[in-house]
Amino acid sequence: AATPSPNFVRAIVESDLAAGTHTRAGMPSVITRFPPEPNGYLHVGHAKSICLNFGLARDYQGRCHLRFDDTNPEKEDQEYVDTIMDSVKWLGFTWEQGGQEYLHYASDYFDQLYAMAEYLIQNGKAYVDSQSAEDMSRNRGNFGTPGTNSPFRDRPVEESLQIFRDMKAGKYKDGEHVLRARMSEDAMASPIMTNRDPALYRIRHAHHHRTGDKWCIYPMYDFTHPISDALENITHSLCTLEFQDHRPFYDWLVETLAAGGFFDRPVPRQYEFARLNLTYVVTSKRKLRQLVTEGVVNGWDDPRMPTIVGMRRRGYTPEAIQLFCERIGVSKADGWIDMSTLEGALRDDLDPKAPRAVAVLRPLKLIVDNFPEGETVECSAPVHPHHPEWGTRSFPFSRELWIEQEDFMEVPSKGYHRFYPPIDDKPGSRVRLKYGFVTECTGFDKDENGNVVAVHVNYFPDSKSGTPGADNYKVKGNITWVSAQHALEAEVRLYDRLFLDPQPDGGGKDFMSVLNPNALETVTAYLEPGLAGAEADQRFQFERHGYFVADRVDSVPGKPVFNRVTTLKDSWGK
Ligand code: ATP
Ligand code: MG
Ligand code: MG
Repeated sequence: AATPSPNFVRAIVESDLAAGTHTRAGMPSVITRFPPEPNGYLHVGHAKSICLNFGLARDYQGRCHLRFDDTNPEKEDQEYVDTIMDSVKWLGFTWEQGGQEYLHYASDYFDQLYAMAEYLIQNGKAYVDSQSAEDMSRNRGNFGTPGTNSPFRDRPVEESLQIFRDMKAGKYKDGEHVLRARMSEDAMASPIMTNRDPALYRIRHAHHHRTGDKWCIYPMYDFTHPISDALENITHSLCTLEFQDHRPFYDWLVETLAAGGFFDRPVPRQYEFARLNLTYVVTSKRKLRQLVTEGVVNGWDDPRMPTIVGMRRRGYTPEAIQLFCERIGVSKADGWIDMSTLEGALRDDLDPKAPRAVAVLRPLKLIVDNFPEGETVECSAPVHPHHPEWGTRSFPFSRELWIEQEDFMEVPSKGYHRFYPPIDDKPGSRVRLKYGFVTECTGFDKDENGNVVAVHVNYFPDSKSGTPGADNYKVKGNITWVSAQHALEAEVRLYDRLFLDPQPDGGGKDFMSVLNPNALETVTAYLEPGLAGAEADQRFQFERHGYFVADRVDSVPGKPVFNRVTTLKDSWGK
């Protein structure tokens, strides 16, 4: 794992540890939480939050809770709960500690939240507002101008309480009343918009995936989140910068309710960090859903998606994602992280791990005219150049081979060292077939359309790699190949960026208008025969082409399907 680097959150945690700010008998001094709403699949932005929260718990002997923030019944579903748990685990983290699971749902607190809401009403700190949605929004005012108090703001406590109870009992329709906070007499004039009597509860006659039809009023995020944190004794509640303005309400709420005896001190503290924006990627759940529902991609786990399930299927490793999160760090400054940073972490993780193999992606026939038909010579190559202990792999050389189309030029350009035919009185090029023999190009065949369909060579029997004769041949070209008769024919999916614009949804752009039409190219490739045994999720480096993974859905041993995880070199700057 990557070594943790200092950042402002760690600095806060360390000074709190030194000062004993969150010291509590029998409990860790660092308790964080990852609080997804189960309304979609996790994406690479969530990974940043997961690595931060679970990483702090790991590094400071604390713990991290997984909490489903499930207060919007219409949008949430068990399907999302399941995939979120799966993704967190796959990323390498756990909410289990000492035999105890710290898995929570905001909906488990509905009774407590309701009791706290009544407490606020009884103490004049919340009231039922019966304005129309339009009036409420207009009276809220705009940034820079004070809002206007609701005509219901000073209704008697008993009246608010009665209506609130009737709201709960189902006597009203959606939108008829809203419970709002009253932080202070002049809160509606606050320069901070979220202090202007934020809504605490709204009426929603909707079925909840966990509480069923028990409730027809649901608590708002701003009310639920601080209370859930406090009930779980969270010490550091980390969220993205857009919640900065919610912090005064957060503090007011937990202090007010702690004073009311609903939970002990010390209360949790909120800290904000910059969300992840990654070039060539969108991370809004709404936009990701649109890509799925409009069929731009084949589901949430499409390898072009920046979802955790998509990245997993694409061939990313949890270690690469953790390394990436460590490298980008945590700061308070919003910005864009370059996609090459993510792929750099991926390559750094895969390079030492991935066994090597040969694949010909755009095949052209090579015929070794002086090699006897029907015979083979076994060639071998290291499984990994830096792991001699992993041994060697072997594959046959024969009369007919596949090479890459780009490895032959009828008329060579300057400095081209691969195959080209004899021209005028000059012989054809000499090229080493990697791990095999040196060959000399003698000619080529074309079809009636003028396409080159085969290249002819002669081989030098004493030039085999690894034999003493090999040293007698000095050639500049060294290319990959597979034996046509023995190669494994397989589908290979070449993935590229999903968007052509580095900031697909930046500056109000329509992300759907900058889709890359070539984000997926499927080819029939010829692979080294040993790859027939590849298991789903197994990763390889196909020499010179990049990293590939056997697709976890469509690949089966004997009939593998490979996804290109990433190319060998960075191509994002192009
Ligand atoms: P969306 O707005 O797309 O629905 P969200 O932020 O509302 O996303 P949640 O499920 O509520 O999604 O997010 C869970 C946690 O992940 C939150 O604490 C949130 O701050 C964090 N998170 C979400 N997106 C990012 C991101 N791009 N970078 C860092 N953290 C993120
Ligand atoms: Mg959201
Ligand atoms: Mg959210």
